[in-house]
Amino acid sequence: MTFPTDPQTRPHDVLVIGAGGAGLRAAIEARTAGADVGLVCKSLLGKAHTVMAEGGVAAALAHVAPADSWQIHFRDTMVGGKKLNNPRMAELHAVESPARVRELEEWGAVFDRTADGRILQRPFGGHSHPRLAHVGDRTGLEMIRTLQDRAVAAGIEVYMECTITRLITGGDGVSGAVGYWRTTGRPIVFPAKAVILATGGIGKAYEVTSNSWEYSGDGQSLAYDAGAELIDMEFVQFHPTGMVWPPGVRGLLVTEAVRGEGGILRNAIGERFMWKYLPEERREEYAANAEEAARWVRAQSQGKQTDARRPPELSTRDNVSRAIYTEVKEGRGTPHGGVYLDISYLPADHVRRKLPSMHEQFKELADVDITKGPMEVGPTTHYVMGGIRVDAETGETRVPGLFAAGEVAGGMHGANRLGGNSLSDLLVFGARTGKGAAAHAAGETGQPHVDPVQVQEALRVLDAPLERTAGEDPYAIQRDLQAVMQRQVGIFRVEEDLDQALLELAALRKRWKSTCVGGGRVYNPGWNLVFELGNLLTVSEAVARSARQRTESRGAHSRLDYPDTDDTMWGSRNSVVARDKDGRMTIYTTPLPAMSDDLQGVLTAGH
Ligand SMILES: Cc1cc2nc3c(=O)[nH]c(=O)nc-3n(C[C@H](O)[C@H](O)[C@H](O)COP(=O)(O)OP(=O)(O)OC[C@H]3O[C@@H](n4cnc5c(N)ncnc54)[C@H](O)[C@@H]3O)c2cc1C
Repeated sequence: MTFPTDPQTRPHDVLVIGAGGAGLRAAIEARTAGADVGLVCKSLLGKAHTVMAEGGVAAALAHVAPADSWQIHFRDTMVGGKKLNNPRMAELHAVESPARVRELEEWGAVFDRTADGRILQRPFGGHSHPRLAHVGDRTGLEMIRTLQDRAVAAGIEVYMECTITRLITGGDGVSGAVGYWRTTGRPIVFPAKAVILATGGIGKAYEVTSNSWEYSGDGQSLAYDAGAELIDMEFVQFHPTGMVWPPGVRGLLVTEAVRGEGGILRNAIGERFMWKYLPEERREEYAANAEEAARWVRAQSQGKQTDARRPPELSTRDNVSRAIYTEVKEGRGTPHGGVYLDISYLPADHVRRKLPSMHEQFKELADVDITKGPMEVGPTTHYVMGGIRVDAETGETRVPGLFAAGEVAGGMHGANRLGGNSLSDLLVFGARTGKGAAAHAAGETGQPHVDPVQVQEALRVLDAPLERTAGEDPYAIQRDLQAVMQRQVGIFRVEEDLDQALLELAALRKRWKSTCVGGGRVYNPGWNLVFELGNLLTVSEAVARSARQRTESRGAHSRLDYPDTDDTMWGSRNSVVARDKDGRMTIYTTPLPAMSDDLQGVLTAGH
């Protein structure tokens, strides 16, 4: 088959792939630094995953808790990440997020307010103080709206419904990208002096997920193919509360803000079970009983200070997910295989005001009024802590000119992300990466050379499934892939399952190589899926290999055959996967970046 037309060509100094919070913030910064910026997204502008973010953006503004500080935010992030975080990233994030949130407000974001008119902050799991700036439970929408207005006003050229399928590299690093318009199938080539990947996560590798169709690991896979390293891919976050019923919405997120506002978890026999699961070394941070937890909730809802400690439901996500999973597995689950989450004991108008989306979501989708009764919830694949290895200061990967920010990048969150720390990560590292990429582009005097052989190869790969007259259905392969990951590389892992998963993934890749799709190039979802499926196979293999290699349990990675955290062997090692010269996935470990003595002091100060 011949291509419908020759590829279009659109050169830019900086090409940003992904228009979520990270991509938009990076594009704005690069433009501000004087670069000519192109911004590509495979859905419509405003539809990126960031728009779904509900609970809030974490920043130590200290508006509700005057005692809060960047040091405490840093410590919470490191403790939540089981100290596997890149300490410099965690430091920059904690120090810079208040300024990034204030800047968002200056650009027009309208946050919920304290009584004296400052940005209101709500509590979230693992945060020592109420820290999440929010707009009801629609924070991501406000963030995207604000950043998008700013980006468009800055004159950034936007390419919507355009999928990037390959990065072009040469002796000097990255020199552009190739993609196609989903609307017409026409190919497009972007010569670029610097490329920023901001494509989000990998949730579609699993059956039950809060993530949308866009989360197919494209950026991780593009970077891997171009020679970048992926770190800590075993750390996939299962959010404790997704909807479990009805089947069509299984996995849809129930925001942590429900627990932040006082939601109580109970099993089918009415037991408030989270007290059983608090880690011994952190138990003193949580309320000792229901009376103390209720005092804490009352004070929070009235915006008052209290000496009461937070409820056990606000333990970290990895811990709450494992607790729910265990309750269900041991026979104390609800009829639909979850547990109950109840906020209906609070006044109905308070619940409707603080959680309007949740109220609507349960009413519309499950016919449950959350002001009158409990929700049924269970764990759902939500976020990937691992990702492309980047330099903390600039976001550059080991491939010169290739940068990454947001969920696609690794290092910031270690073994487990705290809620709210993603939106702030997007802002802090989006801005840093935009600046880094613009500086790199400014240093490139000539025009980028786009190797025509690589372009032709990218177009041939795209064309192949349309050319075959018989072969595998990509939807069937995707279903099988999700089943493998859900069953064998899920919340609890064991070596035998991981070995089996790797065998099955290899067989799926073979099948993928013979996919065949009918129809043409215009808005053809089956054809679009073939490319995404290849990426899902790459990231799934990276998750399974990394999970097999890490013979301990830490954060979101729980090995039944290695239940203990092994600090001696694993406490300061990142898992790394990279492509070897024969195109095979290799796996190894590298030491964690060193922590300065000052930062070490900050980390230990609270203990
Ligand atoms: C339901 C839900 C609620 C959440 N709530 C919160 C919260 O309250 N607080 C918090 O901190 N975090 C929250 N998170 C996590 C947070 O929303 C995400 O981690 C974050 O938004 C990711 O932003 P991003 O910019 O990295 O990627 P995204 O916002 O997902 O943007 C990715 C962009 O990349 C584009 N793209 C992908 N592949 C390609 C390709 N091949 N070619 C071209 N474009 C491509 C997409 O079209 C999209 O524009 C939530 C997540 C979910 C699912």
